[in-house]
Amino acid sequence: MGENILVDSHVWVEDPEIAWTHGVVLNIKGDEAEVKTNDGKELVAKLSKLYPKDDEAPSEGVEDMTRLSYLHEPAVLDNLATRYGLNEIYTYTGNILIAVNPFQGLPHLYDAEVMEKYKEASFKELGPHVFAIGGIAYRWEMINEDRNKCILVSGESGSGKTETTKMLMRYLAYFGGHTAGEGRTVENQVLESNPVLEAFGNAKTVKNNNSSGKEYQILQDAERFKLGDPKSFRYLNQSSCYELDGVNDAEEYLATRRAMDVVGISETEQDAIFRIVAAILHLGNIEFCKGEDADSSSLKDEQSMFHLQMTSELLMCDPNSLEDALCKRMMVTPEEVIKRSLDPLGAAVSRDGLAKTIYSRLFDWLVNKINISIGQDSHSRRLIGVLDIYGFESFKTNSFEQFCINYTNEKLQQHFNQHVFKMEQGEYEKEEIDWSYVEFVDNKDVVDLIEKKPGGIIALLDEACMLPKSTPETFSEKLYQTFKNHKRFIKPKLTRSDFTLVHYAGEVQYQSDQFLDKNKDYVVAEHQDLLNASKCSFVSGLFPPLPKASSKSKFSSIGARFKLQLQQLMETLNLTEPHYIRCVKPNNLLQPTVFDNANVLHQLRSGGVLEAIRVKCAGYPTNRTFIEFLKRFIILAPEILKGEYEADDACKWILDKKGLTGFQIGKSKVFLRAGQMAELDAHRTKVL
Ligand code: ADP
Ligand code: MG
Repeated sequence: MGENILVDSHVWVEDPEIAWTHGVVLNIKGDEAEVKTNDGKELVAKLSKLYPKDDEAPSEGVEDMTRLSYLHEPAVLDNLATRYGLNEIYTYTGNILIAVNPFQGLPHLYDAEVMEKYKEASFKELGPHVFAIGGIAYRWEMINEDRNKCILVSGESGSGKTETTKMLMRYLAYFGGHTAGEGRTVENQVLESNPVLEAFGNAKTVKNNNSSGKEYQILQDAERFKLGDPKSFRYLNQSSCYELDGVNDAEEYLATRRAMDVVGISETEQDAIFRIVAAILHLGNIEFCKGEDADSSSLKDEQSMFHLQMTSELLMCDPNSLEDALCKRMMVTPEEVIKRSLDPLGAAVSRDGLAKTIYSRLFDWLVNKINISIGQDSHSRRLIGVLDIYGFESFKTNSFEQFCINYTNEKLQQHFNQHVFKMEQGEYEKEEIDWSYVEFVDNKDVVDLIEKKPGGIIALLDEACMLPKSTPETFSEKLYQTFKNHKRFIKPKLTRSDFTLVHYAGEVQYQSDQFLDKNKDYVVAEHQDLLNASKCSFVSGLFPPLPKASSKSKFSSIGARFKLQLQQLMETLNLTEPHYIRCVKPNNLLQPTVFDNANVLHQLRSGGVLEAIRVKCAGYPTNRTFIEFLKRFIILAPEILKGEYEADDACKWILDKKGLTGFQIGKSKVFLRAGQMAELDAHRTKVL
């Protein structure tokens, strides 16, 4: 950038508050330009940091970003903001639909008339809309095509993923002959699986307002489960999110129960599930003090005894065994089995480990149940999968969870890049242009860095977990040694166990302190035995007896299991034709009409939208029909008007005359390399 910028050029310039602002170049000195912004400021910026602004861009924006004359970050952002201001919340980037959450009802967007319109139209014939994606799925059902479709809906929490999915389902249900309302239809099951998983799954993350976990919901059953005041439970009050503004506990609880009915979880199972969650809360309140023997521990007080009693009642296991499982460990030596006591700190770690284990087994059970229930009732073998995913995460402290989430996003991004690239190729082939030297931009290097076997981070982590003397420092040291020349890996200064990965969406610094512990997929034998012996068949079912041989010999890790699951997901995705919807949350105030540039930019980056543009820019980011092109640039070669040129020859004449190379003339369009449109415009400015 920068090379086509002259005095009087309209440009985008970085602004610390609103990300990008625009203005006119007053002066150029060396590699710096003086810019007068449209709000009257005068500032100096590096030429290389300026982007040209298209002064012919339509004031209402463009429906497809690929129609932007200059495809770059500020133009993309400006286009979304402009359209959002006009309540046009949907915009395409090629085949990707971007949906900016309006935070207000826009019923006219979704009425029956609109549905009918989109039913008949082919993709992209009408303006961007979630129904246009629904239409693809619908027509595909009709024509019985073999290929599965999947619609990937992504975005941060509150960006509108669930609403978007609902609209899609409603659209499909509308034409499917039954209304989206009652009953156990596949549509409802997919929709209802969301609140069930959210109610349980969100307890794991910290960023968002609905991410504190909704166990409090169950305080409606408070009486039965002796739960009392939510504030009194350690696992709830740690996040200090036990009460949320505007969330009605009773209502949410009922909604969760209803959702469970829909996905086919029986009354008995529901009862067990809520009992288990209550048990986890009580478990969390058990405290320990020093016991009689040195380095042993016992229950701290009456309160702790009460909670132990409640936990064991709810889990239907023996209270003494529970206490032993928390406070003692068996040591198996070749000669004998020794029962060793844990000190109070060790017992507390044991308690939290037990809680985590139960919770994650329960969550896995729910996911499995929902998958089965959706799979079975689906009368059609062909499936429209909707994947509602967490976006890229980067917090102040990033641990193993963020590592796994970002790894997932890298994999999905790789899939996405390949898809975008394929779509581009399709367009080039249609126009019969030569694309042989268009480079494929990929994030394979990061993916390999993480998952390669042997030698990737996950493999090194597993290795470290198997070595008894490993510490976070030795693990990190191993990483530093192995990847010291890798351009996606950075050793941060002044830390002994942090490492930074350069993800497609930006750099993330990870704290490796807990990677080893969190990676160990290991249930303490005492915990396993305790719960396997539960009189509640649901609880004991979550802890089936281990097969004897594999219980000790084989090391299993969360990282490796995660990698396998991702591989399976990718295999499924590769068999389908994907459609992408990227939801964007325009502000954190959850208010209509507020468009926060910096916030949106961050999401476009992490959601891969800018990455898609980068892929596009590696090829021919701008194309114009011959007529469009001539209209804009004939002024550069007025002699054309005197001769008799075919439209394609006339376009080529202009491009040659201005010394441009690398462009392509297709059957109906001119394909330009990145920056060439700006270069031609600069020539035009000189003539005008
Ligand atoms: P997510 O599932 O991504 O966390 P939701 O779909 O629950 O987000 O959206 C959050 C809120 O934003 C919704 O409750 C709704 O008020 C609003 N919203 C989202 N999409 C739309 C839309 N298309 N039209 C109107 N309101 C919307
Ligand atoms: Mg949601």
